[in-house]
Amino acid sequence: MSMSETQRSIFITGGASGIGRAVAVFFAERGWFVGIADIDQAGMAETMGMIRDGGATTHTLDVRDRAAWDAALAEFAKAAGDRIDVVFNNAGIGDGGPLVDQDEGELTRMLDINLKGVIFGAQASHPYLVKTAPGSVLLNTASLAGIIGAPGLAAYCATKWAVRGLTESLDAEWAADGIKVSALCPGFIDTPIIGKVSDASNQTAKETLIENGVEVSPVSIVPEVVWRAVHGDDLHYTVGKMAKRLRRMQRWMPGLVRKEMRKGGIGAEI
Ligand code: NAD
Repeated sequence: MSMSETQRSIFITGGASGIGRAVAVFFAERGWFVGIADIDQAGMAETMGMIRDGGATTHTLDVRDRAAWDAALAEFAKAAGDRIDVVFNNAGIGDGGPLVDQDEGELTRMLDINLKGVIFGAQASHPYLVKTAPGSVLLNTASLAGIIGAPGLAAYCATKWAVRGLTESLDAEWAADGIKVSALCPGFIDTPIIGKVSDASNQTAKETLIENGVEVSPVSIVPEVVWRAVHGDDLHYTVGKMAKRLRRMQRWMPGLVRKEMRKGGIGAEI
């Protein structure tokens, strides 16, 4: 199928895996033209293989590179009939552990990808989203870790709180442009990001979470929330029951959340 004039388009970073991939496939199935952007070319090819011919393009993009953002968006806009309706600013990494054990390189990488990369993405997207406004959307992937602070995730939480700050600021700043800006706040989702083996416990984060009775949701629950975010008008969209519950608790019972976090983090009882 070729790009038609009225077909809407979505540019997705982190499209080679997990949430980005699931969202790419979901939107393509609903007739959207999809831009899959990532540093992982093999992963992008796999996502592409899940989408019918002509429904998507791939773009090698390191979100830390401001000029590369301009190049990738220009390339995608051209392929998408000169329009970008939605930018899903989603690429991120999830290293954790006690802050004192994280070295400078690890911390810098985390800040660069999860924060600088998202800010660059917002800035680079603006000229395209202005053209398709009203109704165009910047959706930034924050996290439940952007709503509560959790031990073992200090730097990660800092980046995700920052993404929510960026989102709230741009929601106000771009309102007059007719661009909607929202943050996606998933709880734990079963993707490769939580599949890495931790040095301390010799098990994956996913195994540790499940052992502690913590909810880990399938990635299939995410695209519907992204769809709602793209078509809705809220500022924050939680994904999964735990994220919803904890967001409510953080609002109404912050002392209880703090107490539980000081006991060791998210467990079955919270
Ligand atoms: P994932 O590891 O499956 O996917 C992340 C993707 O980002 C990968 O394809 C990776 O190659 C890409 N990426 C990493 N660095 C990049 C860079 N510099 N430039 C471009 N692409 C880069 O993980 P996921 O769970 O799909 O994560 C997607 C987003 O969701 C992240 O921002 C993550 O922090 C957030 N998130 C995930 C969870 C979860 O439990 N899985 C929960 C809350 C928030």
